[in-house]
Amino acid sequence: MKVDLAAVGGGFAGLVAAVRASELGLVAAAIERGEGETYMCNSRVCTGVIHTALAPADDPPDIVYERVMSATGGTARPDLARTFAENGARAIAWMEEHGATLETAPRRNYGLPSLSPTRRMGAGLDWEGNGPDLFLRGLETRLEAAGGTILRGTEALALVMEGRACRGVEIRNAAGRSTVEAGAVVIADGGFQADRERLGAHITGQPDRIRQRNTETGRGDGLRMAEEAGAATVGLDKFYGHVLSRDVMTNPVLWPYPQVDVICASGIVVGADARRFTDEGLGGVYITNEIARLDDPLSATAIFDSTVWEQAKEADLVPPNPLLAEAGGTLHEAGSIGELALRAGLDTGSLETTVGEFNAAVKGGRTDRLAPARTVETYAPVPIETPPFHAVPLAAGITVTMGGIAVDGAARVLRPDDTPIPGLYAAGSAVGGVEGGPRAAYIGGLIKAFLLGLVAAETAARELGAGQ
Ligand SMILES: Cc1cc2nc3c(=O)[nH]c(=O)nc-3n(C[C@H](O)[C@H](O)[C@H](O)COP(=O)(O)OP(=O)(O)OC[C@H]3O[C@@H](n4cnc5c(N)ncnc54)[C@H](O)[C@@H]3O)c2cc1C
Repeated sequence: MKVDLAAVGGGFAGLVAAVRASELGLVAAAIERGEGETYMCNSRVCTGVIHTALAPADDPPDIVYERVMSATGGTARPDLARTFAENGARAIAWMEEHGATLETAPRRNYGLPSLSPTRRMGAGLDWEGNGPDLFLRGLETRLEAAGGTILRGTEALALVMEGRACRGVEIRNAAGRSTVEAGAVVIADGGFQADRERLGAHITGQPDRIRQRNTETGRGDGLRMAEEAGAATVGLDKFYGHVLSRDVMTNPVLWPYPQVDVICASGIVVGADARRFTDEGLGGVYITNEIARLDDPLSATAIFDSTVWEQAKEADLVPPNPLLAEAGGTLHEAGSIGELALRAGLDTGSLETTVGEFNAAVKGGRTDRLAPARTVETYAPVPIETPPFHAVPLAAGITVTMGGIAVDGAARVLRPDDTPIPGLYAAGSAVGGVEGGPRAAYIGGLIKAFLLGLVAAETAARELGAGQ
C-alpha cells in the first residue's frame, strides 16, 4: 500500500492528522490496532473537557503561552508552547466545523468546553454515545468520505527508514506482514502508560501497584519505533492521572470516577508512617505522581474532616460524596483522630502529631514551614478539626503519560541534536516536551491530540509540497 501520510493510531490525534491531510490533498491512512467499529482508545472513553493547562485553549496567545510556561516551571519547549498558544482557537473552530458539539463542563474548571453529550455523573466507565465517541466516529466517516482509509485490526511494528528519513511503516494484520509506503508518518499511538517495563524505568518502582485509568492501548510502540529511528525523548517521568480509592485495585466500578483529588488537596495525604510526604496544595495530578513514586504506592491515605466531606458533594464532575462509598470505596469515619488512625491502620500518636502540626500551620498561615511545605495558592488547606473525621485509602491512577517523543513546534520528530527526522511527525499523547516539569503540569490530553494532529498534517503537507 502506498499513501502520502500514514498515521500510527486511530485516536483523535491520528484521525485528525489523517482527515486534515486529506483536506490538503494528500492520500491518508490511519493504522489502528483495535478491531471493530468502536475499537477502544483513550479518545473514545475520555470525559471530553477541552483546555490548555486547565483554562480555555482559545484564550489570547500570549496568555496561553505564559500559562504553559509557568505551569511547567519553564520546562516546556518554547516553540511547542507557542504552537499551543497560537493554534488553540483554530483547533476548537476546526473541531466544530468537523462535527464536534461543545457544551460547558459542569462543576469543573468553570466554563471549559466539553464534547457533548457529556458523561453521566456516576461512578465507573461510560462512553458509548458520549461526545468523544460520537466525534471519533464522525472523524472516521469524514476520512473515508475524503478518500482516506482506516486500517483497523492492523498493528504498526516498525518505521521504514531510508537513510535518515522515514518512508513508511511495517504493519501486521490478518493478511500478514506488509509495508505501508508513506511520504510522511505521524506517530499517534497514545503514549506508554500501559507499558509496565517503561513505567518501571521512569515512573514507579511498582507498576502493578498503580491503577491503569485508561484503555491500556498506549503500549509505547510509537516511542520505541521513534527511538529506533534515532529520535530524542523528553519528560518520561511524569504522567497525567488522578487519585483513586485503593479499592479500585479490585473493584472496576471505581475508575475512572469518582476521583478523590479534591479531598486530598483540601486535607492531608499520609504514608504508612502517618506522616505527610507531598505538597497537597499542588492538586491531584501532582499528588498521584508522588503516590506512584512511593516504595509502596498502595500505602497512602487521605485524612480530612466533615467540612471537606460536605464540600465533596459539589466538588468535581462526579462528586466523591456520596459516590465513593456507594460504589464500594472505603471511607473510614471516627469521632477523634486517634480512633480514625486505628480504623485506617495507622499509628495513633504519629497521626495525631501530623494532624496537629498541619492544623497549627494552617491557622498560623505558615504552611510553608511544614515538611514538606504545603502551597496554598491553588488549593486552600482546610484544618482537620470538625468531626466526624475521615480517612480514605488511596491508589495512584495513571491516565496517560506526559512525556514522550521530542518534537518541535511544527510537530516534527527531533533527534538528540534537535534536527528533525525527515518524514516523521508525532501528535497527541505520544509527544513530550509541553507537560510535566517539577509540578507535573497537565496541559491537556485532548488539545495535544487535536492541535498537534492538525499541525503535524499541515507541516507534512507543506514538506510534501501539497496545497494548504
Ligand atoms: C477516562 C479518561 C478521561 C479523560 N478525560 C480527558 C478530558 O476530559 N480532557 C482531556 O484533555 N483529556 C482527557 N483524557 C486524555 C485523552 O483522552 C487522551 O490524552 C487523548 O485522547 C489521546 O489521544 P491520542 O490520539 O493521542 O491517543 P489514543 O486515543 O489513545 O489513540 C491511540 C490509538 O493508537 C492505537 N495504537 C497504539 N499502538 C498501536 C500500534 N502499534 N499500531 C496501531 N495502532 C496502535 C491504539 O489502539 C489507539 O487506538 C482522558 C483519558 C481517559 C482514559
